Amino acid sequence: MWEKFTDWAIPARLRRQGPDTTRRARLLLTFTGAMFGLGVTGIVFLLTIEPEPLSPRMLAIALPTALAGSVPAILRSTGSLTLAGNLGAALAFFSIAFVAFQTGGLGRPILGIQALVPLVAVLVSGVRWGVFWTVLACLEAGLLFYLHLEGFEFPEPPAPGVQDRVNLVLSVMLFVMVLVLGTIYESLKNAALDHFQRANRNLAKARDAAEAATRAAEEASRARSAFLATMSHEIRTPMNAVIGMAGLLEGTELTDEQRDFAATIRQSGDSLLTVLNDILDFSKIESGKLEVEATAFDLQSTIEEAVDVLAIKAKEAGIELLHESSPDLPRNVVGDSTRVRQILLNLLSNAVKFTEEGEVHLAVEAEKLETGPYEIHFAVRDTGIGIPADRMGMLFDSFTQVDASTTRKYGGTGLGLAISNRLAELLGGRMWVESEEGAGSTFHFTILAKRAPDGAAMTEKQAAKVLQGKRVLIVDDNATNRQILERVTASWGMEPTLCESGRQATSELLTANPYDVAILDMFMPEMDGAELARRIHSLKKRAGLPLVLLSSSGAILEESGDQESRAHFAATLSKPAKPRQLASTLSGIFGARKTARKPASDLPADMGARHPLRILLAEDNRVNQKVAVKILERIGYSTQVVENGALALEAIERETFDVVLMDLQMPELDGIGATRKLRERHPGEAERPRVIALTANVLEEERTACLQAGMDDFLGKPLAVPALIQALEKCVRRADGGAPRSGIEPESTPAPG
Ligand code: ADP
Repeated sequence: MWEKFTDWAIPARLRRQGPDTTRRARLLLTFTGAMFGLGVTGIVFLLTIEPEPLSPRMLAIALPTALAGSVPAILRSTGSLTLAGNLGAALAFFSIAFVAFQTGGLGRPILGIQALVPLVAVLVSGVRWGVFWTVLACLEAGLLFYLHLEGFEFPEPPAPGVQDRVNLVLSVMLFVMVLVLGTIYESLKNAALDHFQRANRNLAKARDAAEAATRAAEEASRARSAFLATMSHEIRTPMNAVIGMAGLLEGTELTDEQRDFAATIRQSGDSLLTVLNDILDFSKIESGKLEVEATAFDLQSTIEEAVDVLAIKAKEAGIELLHESSPDLPRNVVGDSTRVRQILLNLLSNAVKFTEEGEVHLAVEAEKLETGPYEIHFAVRDTGIGIPADRMGMLFDSFTQVDASTTRKYGGTGLGLAISNRLAELLGGRMWVESEEGAGSTFHFTILAKRAPDGAAMTEKQAAKVLQGKRVLIVDDNATNRQILERVTASWGMEPTLCESGRQATSELLTANPYDVAILDMFMPEMDGAELARRIHSLKKRAGLPLVLLSSSGAILEESGDQESRAHFAATLSKPAKPRQLASTLSGIFGARKTARKPASDLPADMGARHPLRILLAEDNRVNQKVAVKILERIGYSTQVVENGALALEAIERETFDVVLMDLQMPELDGIGATRKLRERHPGEAERPRVIALTANVLEEERTACLQAGMDDFLGKPLAVPALIQALEKCVRRADGGAPRSGIEPESTPAPG
């Protein structure tokens, strides 16, 4: 019944304000009900002692009692708890005050009931209204006190017998009211606690759900990594065979058509591998898993290597590939050389790809920041097709190409720039592009890198001492290249003179002071480098001038079999000219250092003879065995082959090996297990062979696992011959206990004699 009444009196809009408001409204209704009960009791009681129904006392009780009925109505119609609450409080307050006045002022027990008004006001309408009603009650008490002091004649109090009965009833009502309020307070408190507990439980549930989601996400990411690793492995293993065998096939006796087929197979394999690597990188970037290294590396060589890779393609495409590093570039920096090379390769190969004629120019500058590191700025400028202004914004998004026809004409996945852009950011820099459609593009990127101890820079510095003050004649038809050579040689203290043709050079040589050395470009219109060299050597006075030939391919003279031309040159260097190499070549000419020599063929077939190594290959896959054995044969090594880690360990116990090429996934005992065992049995570095991991899984985790297991090096499959040679070179170095012997450096210079 009471429930129904309160449901009726509390309107929906109040309920919507929440359970707390609803509870306060209930409290108000309960209090009003109690006051109403008190009023009715008072009236009945008055009627028994005072038969006059319209006495002021009777009215003072009956009127507010009747008005109390309006509180629920007002609550329902206005929906305002404050209004209804204060109306109830006012009715109770003033009727009690009037009764107290009527019954003799201060000291009346009814004033005790009045004390409940501020209490209820606090609970219903908040502390502020509670304070308000307390202040009023105090004023009332003060007023009554003042009236007593002044000797005011209060209306006649009831006779003592009546008064006792009134006091009895009021006391009981006071106790009951306090109990009611206490109960209400208790229920409010419990409800609030309940509310908190429920909220807590919900929070705990949400936390559990979040934890489960995180676990699921971690699980998914592990599964994804595992999938990537497997996919990478599964694709790389057959690719290893395809690329390796095609390369070997190319080296056999073939008809032109067959050679073309073999080359196509190998090139397609290479591009497939590039796509695979891009996708792997991209998915690692996407999942935030790509981390960059911070190790000291030779910045200049990294740049030169990247340029070298593209030099051949540029030459095939008939465009000049030029490179210029500012002299203040720190030689060694701390960073991730692989990633820097990757960005450079991407930008350079795009530039070469999208340039039909003209040149591709890489400029590298460094600026020391006040905060400590260097900001290294790379700019790859081309004279290619350019990019329309409206497409430039989206270039760095994944899978975008300038237009759909790009794929048809030039190939590519549209991932390269997106990856490079993210890599540049990971290296502390950024990437941007300037381009004009039809005129060419310049792709810029920066990285932040600290300078590393400058050990390797010594060679160039030492070279510079030798080169100081030497006069050099530079002959090249390409203006940018002339400029680069001028700056580079000048930075070593040389005195360069520039000529743009063979004709100009010969007349310069005839008239001017003697030169110490001349650098000649091979490919020039009218008179090429070889012809110019002949002319120079036929000039009596200049016959002894040392000449350095720059050609787009170092092997060009060997290919043409032109022994006579070769004899004219003290050294040949492949373009683009690399400062470090040029410095060492030039200083070699001046006797500071012997320049390294290398056989002309691509693979150093005599490496095995010059640097004997006993090699063991542990590999279960037949095709891969064959590929590795054949490649090693090509560079002059015979190899022992075993099928798994356990057999490898047995072989090592039986015989002495310098190097073990260790596949990772093998039956019985895998590469990692075998390496661990090997290190346990032979803790001393000198008494065990160097272990080089061979794996189709190129993810960083795998590399770390290999190194942790105690492997000395790591080669990815498909086996890249230069990488294999480099890895073996390190073994030679260890076997010799010193620097590698000359002749196996891929970039060293062929020289006559
Ligand atoms: P892709 O593998 O297709 O080369 P990239 O992300 O490296 O992917 O390049 C995206 C697109 O940007 C290219 O397809 C090409 O349309 C445009 N682009 C990149 N570099 C150049 C450039 N040097 N000159 C003109 N267009 C370029």
